[in-house]
Amino acid sequence: MDTAILDSGEAEPPDCGLDGQETDRDPEEPPSPTRLFPPVPKAQADFHPTPLLDFLHRHFPGATRREWVDWRWQLSHRITCLEDAARILELSEAETSAIGLTRSSLPLAVTPYYARLLDPKNPQQPLRRMVLPSCREAVRTTGEADDPLGEDGHSPVPGLVHRYPNRVLFLTTDFCSTYCRYCTRSRGMGGQQIGGGGLEHLRQRWEQGLDYISRTPAVQDVLLSGGDPLTMPDEALDWLLTRLRAIKHVQIVRIGTKVPAVLPMRVTTDLARMLKKHHPLWMSLHFTHPGELTEDTRKACARLADAGIPLGSQTVLLSGVNDEPEVMGRMLQGLLAYRVRPYYLYQCDPISGSAHFRTPALRGVEILRALRGRLSGYALPTFVIDAPGGGGKIPLAPDYTLGYSGADLVLRNYAGGVYRYPDPAGAQKAPAQPAMSKGAA
Ligand code: SF4
Repeated sequence: MDTAILDSGEAEPPDCGLDGQETDRDPEEPPSPTRLFPPVPKAQADFHPTPLLDFLHRHFPGATRREWVDWRWQLSHRITCLEDAARILELSEAETSAIGLTRSSLPLAVTPYYARLLDPKNPQQPLRRMVLPSCREAVRTTGEADDPLGEDGHSPVPGLVHRYPNRVLFLTTDFCSTYCRYCTRSRGMGGQQIGGGGLEHLRQRWEQGLDYISRTPAVQDVLLSGGDPLTMPDEALDWLLTRLRAIKHVQIVRIGTKVPAVLPMRVTTDLARMLKKHHPLWMSLHFTHPGELTEDTRKACARLADAGIPLGSQTVLLSGVNDEPEVMGRMLQGLLAYRVRPYYLYQCDPISGSAHFRTPALRGVEILRALRGRLSGYALPTFVIDAPGGGGKIPLAPDYTLGYSGADLVLRNYAGGVYRYPDPAGAQKAPAQPAMSKGAA
């Protein structure tokens, strides 16, 4: 048996040369997490967006830099139709057809900010694939469904999902600034932005949700999602947070948002100041690719973190987008540098028309196994499958145990080395144990 025994002096895994690695970064340049790994040809993080003023001049003539950094200007100039998209991108025939066929339940919408990150010449660029429709969305394969997680069946009142004992999902809005083609809730997306009179049509739904939470003392934790809650005006979000904070048994409020990746200018000082009033408040930020980690996004994350909000990330594993360890690793390491702790890596839900995005289910385990030891444990999220039908999140992790040898638990480390741990539990059951149970001999 190839069993190496660590003594106390060897307890640390050897340095793989990535953690703390020197980079060739200019000391004057802001931290660039993408430099921590060598470039991968397949990944498109190396696409360099057109300089902003050139982009504005070419695609939004007359618009000023001041307008560009106004989130409301961004929302009112979204790319939402074939003509808009063709103005900015060289569309392939497939993209042109798909935009024409777009499922009515999930419209096309991309902020100008995110559109600038899209490679105008490459339809296979990961960021572009995530937001431009594909004809394959129209093909429902075996096991796919419009509501694969059975959320509608766990909804005691409209706009609220109560699946886990002590927490609920509160669906604030049906609107996002940019629509992801793999969205689990694509069946209900594409509503009006909340603003002006827009809040009124949702007020009744919100009141029903608030009433349910008030009369359900088991609910200690409320996740605001949607749609994207940060697309709402400060006043609407403040109103909702104030009402939730007034419910004594609600201890924690969380907000799920993709705004820092697709509309970072939305994270204003006023927004951060308002959110700070409602602690304990947590945030789950949706990121999918290192190409989303721009300087604007770094500033948005910093503003939220400076407001005392713990930031976690949620990522959907997507075929051809982020299913290579190098790509995922660059993103996870970059998130840490942006003060965001990677939280969940999701297997893509089997929504209707998602086959082109879904990887083999164990690919996420392989990726985490490849990254273990190369990245700090802080950078490694939990990989989960959200069980179809409403079973909740089920974690899948690489297994590093090889079984028992006598009283020792035998383990394989990230680099393939085999080690023994003198396990007190093993000592008790040693006589009954086979020498090894997982073929480590
Ligand atoms: S940001 Fe979230 S809710 Fe909005 S389209 Fe993307 S996945 Fe769906």
